[in-house]
Amino acid sequence: MLIIGLTSRDRLLLTLVFGCERCGRQAAHQLVKRVRRFTVFFIPLIPISTRYLDTCTACGRVVDVPREEAERALRSGGPLRP
Ligand SMILES: [Zn+2]
Repeated sequence: MLIIGLTSRDRLLLTLVFGCERCGRQAAHQLVKRVRRFTVFFIPLIPISTRYLDTCTACGRVVDVPREEAERALRSGGPLRP
């Protein structure tokens, strides 16, 4: 019998401090890369989707960030423009 499933793993890429458009505070934002993988016998094999998420640590709002924007922020250490 084949045991298949899905797994999701988050990796923190960067923490940035900038003004949140929701709560208006200068707060730390965590940029996370979330990769979902197809698993066989609990071993992650094939990546299905990759998302970049920005979480405001002050109010907890989470937004998707386009890949190009996430990579730009990683290179420059600049704020995100979701
Ligand atoms: Zn906020």
